[in-house]
Amino acid sequence: MPARPSEQFSPEPVAPEQSAGVIRRIVHIDMDAFYASVEVRDHPELRGRPVAVAHLGRRGVVLTANYEARAFGVRSAMPTQMALDRCPELLLTPPRMEVYHEVSGVIREIFLRYTDLVEPLSLDEAYLDVSAPKLGPPSGTLSARAIKADILRGTGLTASAGVSHTKFLAKIASDMNKPDGLTVIRPHEAQDIIDALPITAFHGVGPATALRMREHGIANGADLRAVSAANLRAWFGQQGEHYFRVSHGIDLRPVVPDRERRSLGVERTYDTDLRGLEAVRGALPEITGLLLERLNRSKYVGRTLILKLKFADRAIVTRRVRCALPLTQADRILALATGLLSEEVLRGRRVRLVGLSVTGLVGADDPAPAQPGLFAAADGPRGGAE
Ligand SMILES: [Mg+2]
Repeated sequence: MPARPSEQFSPEPVAPEQSAGVIRRIVHIDMDAFYASVEVRDHPELRGRPVAVAHLGRRGVVLTANYEARAFGVRSAMPTQMALDRCPELLLTPPRMEVYHEVSGVIREIFLRYTDLVEPLSLDEAYLDVSAPKLGPPSGTLSARAIKADILRGTGLTASAGVSHTKFLAKIASDMNKPDGLTVIRPHEAQDIIDALPITAFHGVGPATALRMREHGIANGADLRAVSAANLRAWFGQQGEHYFRVSHGIDLRPVVPDRERRSLGVERTYDTDLRGLEAVRGALPEITGLLLERLNRSKYVGRTLILKLKFADRAIVTRRVRCALPLTQADRILALATGLLSEEVLRGRRVRLVGLSVTGLVGADDPAPAQPGLFAAADGPRGGAE
């Protein structure tokens, strides 16, 4: 009796090692409470006490809290005032981005001793492909252990490492035993771990997506895996395909050393059009503040600043400037933005919208669709064609 292939071949997920031809060894390194750990290292009197690196003031937010502060429920991106309500003895310290950049550079040098395949996600986080390491034996676990030791020696700080055969799993692993953890997820363990994973722990599932998932009865990895690819696609678009794959343990994304550059920006639309150079200049401090807040919260860094203006007739003009150093300080961003403005740019037109964005970012590996307004498409033609 002839076989009936259409009934015999159900679409089985293909194991990554089968389709890729090799088993990759991927390490995800994530510094523990990075900014806060740097501050405690440099200010020993803070040791053992709850510490948050935070912007002060009415609009201030917590950038990073140490583990002592997290025990009180203090979290990053939380308004500073809320953090103080939860933990009245919380010690606040302002960010010193230049120091964090410096430490980040030291860590990067350490990574590059082991492999050229380093994909930074932020100042304190990176994927490394150590399938064929430049230093030490070809073992993800041994590479991770050596890198952690080098980081501690070189910076006085601890990192957590996750080791697995995919990026998705390596990142989950690094989060499993923080701080100072080293967690390995082996291929045969992967599906159970994914199944048990709460949906909010899936990289790329933000609060809004998590809510929509819960509406579809998806609370964890097993629920997600039970949904057909067609339904996930219908509900979540292209992102649904990513969810389908990772829920089945399939993640063939390679570690990409030079990521596609992204931009992050803020825009402000005015109820009443701004008239004249001084009025537009007067709008820049507020927008600069918002931009810096976004940048700090995201842990992205970039060196190119773009000013965007939209006029009353809806024409758009952009001007950009590239800097030698990362844009991390309000006064510098403000000075550069002000320098991009001129009568020649305005040509007497009324301004409806002012935006500032930074490009050339070290991008986060976030497969979720960008939030509206977060990754502004402000990357207009160089020199500002209209
Ligand atoms: Mg971290």
